[in-house]
Amino acid sequence: MKDYAVLIAVFLLLFGSIQLEVSGITPPSLGYVFGGVVIAAGFFAYRRHRSAYVRSMLGTVVGVQLLFQVVLPYWIFSQGTALNLTWPHYPDVLWATGYLALYYFVLSFVVVPLLVLLFGRRAWCSFACMLGALAETLGDRYRTRGTKARALPRGFVILKWVTLAGTAAVTVPALAGHIEEVGAFLWFYLIIFVFILRALLSLAVNIICMPRLGTRIWCRYFCPQGLVLGLLSRISRFALIRNVDLCKNCGVCNQHCSMALDISGGPAVNRSGDCFGCGVCVEVCPRNALSMTTDIATARKKAETLRV
Ligand code: SF4
Ligand code: SF4
Repeated sequence: MKDYAVLIAVFLLLFGSIQLEVSGITPPSLGYVFGGVVIAAGFFAYRRHRSAYVRSMLGTVVGVQLLFQVVLPYWIFSQGTALNLTWPHYPDVLWATGYLALYYFVLSFVVVPLLVLLFGRRAWCSFACMLGALAETLGDRYRTRGTKARALPRGFVILKWVTLAGTAAVTVPALAGHIEEVGAFLWFYLIIFVFILRALLSLAVNIICMPRLGTRIWCRYFCPQGLVLGLLSRISRFALIRNVDLCKNCGVCNQHCSMALDISGGPAVNRSGDCFGCGVCVEVCPRNALSMTTDIATARKKAETLRV
């Protein structure tokens, strides 16, 4: 019960701060509240882990969030909007005005895809995305609950395609300048995107259901950004490597994966596209059989050698 009380309080704090920010009462409120949650939860997560990689990942998550949520937008540029937002997760960033629109276009269609191709999906989904940061810090103690979400029908993943199609459907007319002319269209956007997808699913359900369904429900079943980045990650330089000589298929790694991936039963060079590179499976493997790489060619050669 205590866990749920804390998570409901976090949700209410975040939701309330968004309302204050949207209404223009205290513009940096979301950045400050979110930053406070990530720092506090990141501290406890840091103490829970021993691996240098996981610890440095958690430190980076907190640093990147503060930089893009508060320091750059409010303290340096005084423009008042978080800078770690991208299409298709936040379609409205594309109809920002002035240089900000150009920034979000370049971030969404050039910088993030490039980073993912070079470093894998972790470049965005572990470090830069707000929901990813919440999952890695606040959700750290619920990583093992991810497997429980297997109870949800696998077919739910089709919902990611639905949200992506919906995003495309609102983006095209909006960029053509029609969204403000058609009131019904604007209502559709507010109800589906702002209320159902953002407030209800990506915030309320995603946070409050962590103890029951794990930390990445939104990422696994709904996020259109995750869908696109997952496809890119499959052809990226990043891979999770399992040394098949050392691995005894004990399944400890599987229990700790917040994406409920089948690591022990997967290929030696795993490029599933769903791995966030959190490094926790590598940390908990009792036989040190797992590692991560961004040198896919060498990793493949090593895997071939091990099979011989
Ligand atoms: S899948 Fe979506 S919500 Fe999850 S970390 Fe990636 S971009 Fe963020
Ligand atoms: S496979 Fe390992 S590194 Fe990837 S998301 Fe799962 S636990 Fe994290």
